Amino acid sequence: MQKTAIQVKDLQKSYKSLDVLKGVNFNVEQGSIFALLGSNGAGKTTLVKILTTLIKQDGGTAIVNGFDVALKPGNVRQVISLTGQFAAVDEMLTGQENLIMIARLRHLKNPRQLADALLTRFGLTEAAKRRASTYSGGMRRRLDLAMSLVGTPPILFLDEPTTGLDPEARIEVWKMVKELADSGITVFLTTQYLDEAEQLADHIAILHEGKIIASGTLTELKKLFPAAEVEYVEKQPTLEEIFLAIIGKKEK
Ligand code: ADP
Repeated sequence: MQKTAIQVKDLQKSYKSLDVLKGVNFNVEQGSIFALLGSNGAGKTTLVKILTTLIKQDGGTAIVNGFDVALKPGNVRQVISLTGQFAAVDEMLTGQENLIMIARLRHLKNPRQLADALLTRFGLTEAAKRRASTYSGGMRRRLDLAMSLVGTPPILFLDEPTTGLDPEARIEVWKMVKELADSGITVFLTTQYLDEAEQLADHIAILHEGKIIASGTLTELKKLFPAAEVEYVEKQPTLEEIFLAIIGKKEK
C-alpha cells in the first residue's frame, strides 16, 4: 500500500491584495515523482516555500512526512532537502570537499566516507579532487543533487532542476532523479518544461489562477483532452497540448 508523503489541504496564501494560492489540494505518494506545472507567476515557488517551511501559509494545512509545516517546522526540515536552479555548490572547493563540508554542517559521522559513496553514486569519482569551477553544467548539477542527499532526506524538493542545462546534461539529471525515486525517495518537482514532467513524473498537477485545475498521471491527463480536437492530427496529444488546452479553457 502506498503511503502519503505530502498532504496539502485548502492551502491559501496572499501577498497583500494578491491572492496567489486560493485553496490548493493534492497528495503526493511516498517514493513517487510529483511534478507541479504552472506558468510563470502561477505560485509554484510560493507553494514550495510553504512546504519547505521558508514562509507560512495564511490558511489550510500542509503535512510533510507526517509533520504539519506550520506546527512542526523543525521536524519537517529534518526530513526534506531543497535544491534548484541556484546550486549550493562552492566553486572554490573540490566535489569531495563540498560534500564533506555539508556532512560536517549536518553533524554526520564519517563525512569522508559519506562523500565518497555519493561521488561514486553520481559518477563523480574521477572529478572528486577537482575544483567544482572546472565542472560542466551537468556535473555541477549532479554534485548539487548529491549534496542535497547528504543525510538521506526522504523527501526531495527540486525547484526547476534542469533550467539552464544543455539537452545532454538534462538527460543525465533526469536519470539521477529517476534513480532517486526508485530508491524510495519522494521527489517534488517544479518545472517549466512540459517534456520534463512528461519524462519524469508519476503524477502531474497543473497550478493555475491559485488552484490545481488538473491532476493525474499523464495517461489520465490525456483522457481529459477532448478527443475531437486531436482527431485531425491523428496522434496522442503531448503534455504541452494538454496544458495549453486546459489553461486556455479556463481563461475563456
Ligand atoms: P512561480 O514560481 O509559479 O513563477 P511565484 O510563487 O514565484 O510563482 O509567484 C506567484 C505570484 O506571487 C507572482 O505574481 C509573484 O510576483 C508574487 N510574489 C511572489 N513572492 C512575492 C512576495 N514576497 N511579495 C509579493 N508578491 C510576491
